Amino acid sequence: MKAVQDMYQTFQEEMGWAPVDKHDYQSSKEFLLYIHMLLTTEVAEVAEEFRKMMYRTRDLAETGMEINEAYSQAKQEIRENLGKELADCLAYLCKLANFFDYDLEEELRAKLDEIRKRYNK
Ligand SMILES: [Mg+2]
Repeated sequence: MKAVQDMYQTFQEEMGWAPVDKHDYQSSKEFLLYIHMLLTTEVAEVAEEFRKMMYRTRDLAETGMEINEAYSQAKQEIRENLGKELADCLAYLCKLANFFDYDLEEELRAKLDEIRKRYNK
């Protein structure tokens, strides 16, 4: 996961996107509000793909196609776009994690351990 975060950081530098001054309150605030807005927009775009898939499944089923076959076809139809939207979400998560100097893999591992303990696993 660190490799993914580093890949995103390198991409940002290649694009010439100016880094945010992490120690300046006003620019940090503007950055965080902006990135949060973009992340939530991308999460909504994931939901939009699910909506398209569900409506398409319904429409195909209404033509007489067996429901699971309809679902399988609809899922395949959104696959490319859904992948792009998930990647958009990951990009903004990397951006936030990099801003706060988190290693997302470590954070995920710690979170999974926390859940295991909660469920006595
Ligand atoms: Mg998008």
